[in-house]
Amino acid sequence: MDKLKNYILTYGNAKDTSVLKVDSFLNHQIDVTLMEEIGDDFAQYFQHKKITKVLTIETSGIAPAMMVALKLKVPLVFLKKNVSKIHNQDLYTTKVHSFTKDIDYELSCNALFLSNEDHVLFIDDFLANGEACLGAMRILDQAQATLEGVGIVIEKSFQKGRSLIEEKNIDIYSLARIQKLDGEAIEFL
Ligand code: 5GP
Repeated sequence: MDKLKNYILTYGNAKDTSVLKVDSFLNHQIDVTLMEEIGDDFAQYFQHKKITKVLTIETSGIAPAMMVALKLKVPLVFLKKNVSKIHNQDLYTTKVHSFTKDIDYELSCNALFLSNEDHVLFIDDFLANGEACLGAMRILDQAQATLEGVGIVIEKSFQKGRSLIEEKNIDIYSLARIQKLDGEAIEFL
């Protein structure tokens, strides 16, 4: 998606050779017009699948995922991080390692919101080592829901996430694929 690539080149900030900051349009301040175009692009790519729900992870996945859900006219479910289990017995849960924070956290979903009848599209802002996406897949397994595809806004293709998802024969579609981050230089595939 050319507009997204231009935003990344203009406003993105490569903190080092592995982390890209995009706080001015995706992760803190959100460019809603860009988000709408992102929603259109994903919706068009996955339109032939019978998606019943869009799934993402709080917080940064919510903006793009919501636009996709709006375009596909299906509900958006977001996985919560580190939820107390005291009042909520019926949860799907799994542990995930955070690439940016280098800590483990727990992901959970109320069992009411995913079932074996769901055909799910997982959307996230970034793909790095695939931990978040594989965690979402484990939640979907617990719900016996079907994963129809994975949509990623920014894929860092030099990390192992894509190959781990492809190994599972999942349709993965990324809007921008970065092959190299090097200070000022951001190179796309
Ligand atoms: P993974 O689980 O694939 O290793 O990492 C993906 C998750 O980590 C995404 O949900 C995203 O929030 C965060 N993440 C990974 N790499 C980056 C990055 O370069 N920049 C930002 N802002 N977030 C990242």
